[in-house]
Amino acid sequence: TIKNLDVLINSLEGIETITEPNQVAKLSQDYHTFSPVLVPKLAGKVGDIVVRPANEQEVIKVAAICAEHRVPVTVRGAGTGNYGQCVPLHGGVILDMTKLQEILWVKPGVARVEAGVKLAALDKKAREIGWEMRMAPSTYRTATIGGFIAGGSGGIGSVQYGLLGDRGNLLGLRVVTLETEPRVIELRGDDVQKVNHAWGINGIITQVEIPLGPAYPWAEVIVTFDDFITAAKFGQTLANADGMIKKLVTIFASPIPQYFHPLQPYIPKDTHPAFLIVAEPSLESLPGLVQQYSGQITYQKPAQEAGKGLNLAEFTWNHTTLHARNVDTSLTYLQSIIPADKGLELVADLHHYFGDEVMVHLEFIRVNGVVVPAALQLVRYSTEERLNEIIRYHEAKGVFIANPHTYIIEDGGRKVIDPEQLKFKEIVDPYGLMNPGKSKVLQFS
Ligand code: FAD
Repeated sequence: TIKNLDVLINSLEGIETITEPNQVAKLSQDYHTFSPVLVPKLAGKVGDIVVRPANEQEVIKVAAICAEHRVPVTVRGAGTGNYGQCVPLHGGVILDMTKLQEILWVKPGVARVEAGVKLAALDKKAREIGWEMRMAPSTYRTATIGGFIAGGSGGIGSVQYGLLGDRGNLLGLRVVTLETEPRVIELRGDDVQKVNHAWGINGIITQVEIPLGPAYPWAEVIVTFDDFITAAKFGQTLANADGMIKKLVTIFASPIPQYFHPLQPYIPKDTHPAFLIVAEPSLESLPGLVQQYSGQITYQKPAQEAGKGLNLAEFTWNHTTLHARNVDTSLTYLQSIIPADKGLELVADLHHYFGDEVMVHLEFIRVNGVVVPAALQLVRYSTEERLNEIIRYHEAKGVFIANPHTYIIEDGGRKVIDPEQLKFKEIVDPYGLMNPGKSKVLQFS
């Protein structure tokens, strides 16, 4: 905790701060509450003060003051991250970036924005010239671009463009260093990977340059199947159909859809649905494929109604877990990628082996040119030991698990910190002030 909070507050003069304890506690939280393992581990972890810079100049000032006072800094966007990514482990300053909201420019295929810009705001602006974000998490209405780059992985659009960490999905970044005389460093090309998915410990991102994809009129469709594996095969075939433009191919094993109350009229009991977002020009090719797999189209929303009524995307990716937990708080989840060579056969094995304890939710994504099923399985939680056993079983079968039940970077998706990220960390955060405790190798000095 900060020894001399008053001195710090005085030196921050002119920059918005929040010290009211309830608000500070609220802004020290994220959605790690999806994990029954993380909740007790992160209980009571709060910052001392929230600082809300309005522009890069103010970010530089805060960085300099925090470096001088050796105060830990936890950077925060909208706080929708899932692994306690923006929960401060050693108190200090919560650096709320949501006031940095300028969209600097949008050109065909690329945009440059400040880190606090909401993904939906960027999308709206880009659509004015016929472009949109290549991929967005299901939290795109609230999440910031800085938080997505530092903490997210992919989402709606990843079936076409792959994950955020794939080469080409992030063009440039600007970071402010945590030094007594902070520097502003622009990273481009492969260098962006030094900060991409670094959980906010490799510099404060102030600007992002991100590639865009063509904005289609998107239709939303639900197709139901009597059998889960048939639904999954349909999903794989559609995801593989390069001529059909789509940005979402999601498959749910029954009984997951029972947690989606507003969608009950479209999902008969015991059926296994596919949730799709397909470009309208590709829609005519869909019924043939649905018929081939004996599916039923039960719901279709034309593109002109986008933004009105039900929003299918907000039942997919990790929103599935959100809806399920709204009904039953004993549910939690896993995040995994099924290797291409094992594919749906392995999915079928796991589905039969675990039954209702691990309910399969597939999101098709493109990985190095091949579309594979990723999964955000819903797990009926009993104990931490059992959860670890389930994880180990998946790993032994060759499934890659990005464990969402840890706040330590190396225990999550990354396994080891990229040496380039480590080297960059030493440059941008020489005192180890950026949310210390998040990494095994980068300890609080
Ligand atoms: P935050 O939670 O505020 O921050 C995330 C991380 O980024 C933290 O480590 C923080 O320190 C760091 N950070 C934030 N801003 C900066 C900055 N300016 N500079 C440096 N570091 C920074 N994620 C996906 O990838 N795909 C999904 O589909 C998806 N679905 C979700 C659904 C639900 C219901 C929930 C709760 C979460 C989901 N997530 C998903 C996780 C999360 O919503 C996204 O990753 C989101 O993009 C995070 O943005 P944020 O602004 O809320 O970031």
